[in-house]
Amino acid sequence: MTHFPYLIIGGGMTADAAVRGIRELDADRAIGLLGDEADPPYSRPPLSKGLWKGKPVESVWRDTPGRGVDLLLGRRAVSLDPRTRTVVDDRGARYTFDKLLLATGGTPRRFPFGGDETIYFRTLADFRRLHALAAAGKTFAVIGGGFIGSEVAAALAMRGSKVTLLFPEDGIGAGLFPADLARFLVGYYREMGVEVLPGRQVTGIGASGDRHVVETRNGPPITADVIVAGIGIVPNTELATMAGLAVDDGIVVDASLRSSHPEIFAAGDVARFEAPSLGRLRVEHEDNAVTMGRAAGRAMAGDPTPYAHLPYFYSDLFELGYEAVGLLDPRGEVVADWQEPFRKGVVHYLSDGRVRGVLLWNTWGRIEAARNLIAEPGPFGAADLIGRLSA
Ligand SMILES: Cc1cc2nc3c(=O)[nH]c(=O)nc-3n(C[C@H](O)[C@H](O)[C@H](O)COP(=O)(O)OP(=O)(O)OC[C@H]3O[C@@H](n4cnc5c(N)ncnc54)[C@H](O)[C@@H]3O)c2cc1C
Repeated sequence: MTHFPYLIIGGGMTADAAVRGIRELDADRAIGLLGDEADPPYSRPPLSKGLWKGKPVESVWRDTPGRGVDLLLGRRAVSLDPRTRTVVDDRGARYTFDKLLLATGGTPRRFPFGGDETIYFRTLADFRRLHALAAAGKTFAVIGGGFIGSEVAAALAMRGSKVTLLFPEDGIGAGLFPADLARFLVGYYREMGVEVLPGRQVTGIGASGDRHVVETRNGPPITADVIVAGIGIVPNTELATMAGLAVDDGIVVDASLRSSHPEIFAAGDVARFEAPSLGRLRVEHEDNAVTMGRAAGRAMAGDPTPYAHLPYFYSDLFELGYEAVGLLDPRGEVVADWQEPFRKGVVHYLSDGRVRGVLLWNTWGRIEAARNLIAEPGPFGAADLIGRLSA
């Protein structure tokens, strides 16, 4: 049995940020970090971006080991008893804690077919596997037109690999972008050498010799050497559920990032928190992981400051890039303010006359202004918004 004043479950960016947050206020007391990946904490965004453009793999490390923390890697926490404040890992080792952080993130959603041959891209180990396959000249079918699918398809194509990108929607990023922008991206990806198949609902993944075949409801099968999928993640809430904590598509936390147990905190992709102006959210992005992780660490070490940060997120699609704040739901009212159609501009997402989300498309340095706009009560119409952030 090992006792830690601070115990963190999860070995991702949130966990690393929490270690830093704790160390800002408490230089001495022991921190244990239990993570089931073999690697110490690293930045995930470069796995689908910079590492494919020549950035060295070493650039992803978060330098957690240098911060006075006991790294317990390659171990999965399998039980949590909040009454005795005890965690047990998959080797049977027991840990007790004064304060616990659940930074368990999410696990890729999987198809009920295809087995382990399909790469559900999320980890550094996945990057190493995919990179080696690209270097070996393999061909790829990438399933999913969201963040992971669109970035991985672009990364592989930039390396010169033959890539087919398929998804059920009409356009790339259709869950976030207005329909005309999502359709523009289909043409843009084709220009960049990706074979794009919109409107394809996957119904099966099988084998044909040593190649793989993706069956779809509305088109002929697609054959490739390697199948990659990015179809969303599921928050890792099992321990929280086991411990009887409040869970609602994520571990529910208050403004101090405490769960429904006063000594157990949660942050990052797994946490459902109260976001300024927007209400309860769970966010699966880097700024949220890093900012909320740090705040959780500080809260565990005694800082009572409420967490009131509206996170931003970003992505790169070949030469195009964007930052965004708030809720990007293209099914509601959308006001687009293009300076150059689909190349540079700002898209506003409204409901009930309020701006709920802002997409800054190749438009930089406007995140704080976007946050301020989301905080304003409105009501707003198109005439109020055109030129406001793009100017
Ligand atoms: C390829 C990729 C590209 C991305 N690009 C962007 C981007 O461009 N912009 C952006 O804003 N965001 C991006 N993101 C999202 C961002 O990386 C995540 O929001 C962030 O990594 C979440 O960090 P986390 O620590 O909360 O969760 P995770 O990264 O999921 O880390 C949780 C860790 O805990 C471990 N774990 C879970 N359960 C247990 C357990 N019971 N015991 C022990 N360990 C456990 C997991 O294995 C994992 O290592 C990207 C993500 C990926 C995968």
